[in-house]
Amino acid sequence: MSRPPLQLRPGLRVLPRADDEVQIGTDPRWAVRLVDLPPAEVALWSAVDGTTDLVGLADRAASQGADAASVATTVDALRDAGLTRPAPAPGVRTGGPAEAETVAWSLLSADGAGDAVVAGRAGAAVGVVGLGPTGLAVARHLAVAGVGTLLLDDDRAVRSADVAGAHRWSDVGAPRAVAAARVLRDAAPGARIDGDVEPDVVVVVEHEAADPARSMLLMTRDVAHVWVVLRAADAVVGPVVRPGVDPCLRCLDLHRTDLDPAWPTVLRSLTAARPGVDGEVGVLAGAAAALAAAQVLMLLAGQVPTLCGATVELTLPDLVARERRWSTHAACGCTSPPGTTDAGPREA
Ligand SMILES: [Zn+2]
Repeated sequence: MSRPPLQLRPGLRVLPRADDEVQIGTDPRWAVRLVDLPPAEVALWSAVDGTTDLVGLADRAASQGADAASVATTVDALRDAGLTRPAPAPGVRTGGPAEAETVAWSLLSADGAGDAVVAGRAGAAVGVVGLGPTGLAVARHLAVAGVGTLLLDDDRAVRSADVAGAHRWSDVGAPRAVAAARVLRDAAPGARIDGDVEPDVVVVVEHEAADPARSMLLMTRDVAHVWVVLRAADAVVGPVVRPGVDPCLRCLDLHRTDLDPAWPTVLRSLTAARPGVDGEVGVLAGAAAALAAAQVLMLLAGQVPTLCGATVELTLPDLVARERRWSTHAACGCTSPPGTTDAGPREA
């Protein structure tokens, strides 16, 4: 009985290391060495790339002076280590930005089916609230990664400061959501911009502090969300909140209040409407947006985003990240099933 074709996962290269050794991959998360190989097997493996059928390789080994059983054993070991995948159907080509996404997610997904992860994004809808440089970059990352629907939310006009990101000088004065839609259509013509659908996840970009009222709305609607808060010289990305599962924004504010009883008063001032321009430094916006978009893509792939129960502070001038872990606050009650007793909401 013939076995179905098997290939190395895309993105893995076979690199000769010595007369009796080759290395497969370079990322320490999955790279392996094949050691103590006879010269014929070194030659055989050195010719393998992402299109080689590894089942056929074992069959061909004898004709090239290698031991078929030994090669078959190595192929089995690579399969057990998660470095192989079933060969895709012939003629399947993604092209465009999705191709690199497919290669990466072939390595990152448990079954090696990166093409299915990327294809699955087409049915997803992601909301982005706040369309300055950071929010627009989040939306653009997601659109070119294959997310099918972007729901844009920002009534304000594009300001000259917004040109730090993907906004254009020619759009200054236009509504941000309209200008952002034009940018996204240029980058990802297949993406739907807006529509009457519930978002699978919402990214909220705010300045100075996250708004508790918006958090309450998202928790009530049971929509997963990602916070990005920009300040003059740093950005806080996270937490990612799956309502009822992860610590919510209120949990974080209650923890802050435990440490600083004046925090609720300060928070009210920070979230109050104020005149003036909230500028966004370009490199900070870019880094924060990429991190937030990556968390969304983890969620859409069925993975638990790293920033569930965590925030990352990106600080200028070097943008080196510092992570902070957060737990659910006992007084919040956001992760307690309905009907259970809990300390309950409590005014700070
Ligand atoms: Zn909570």
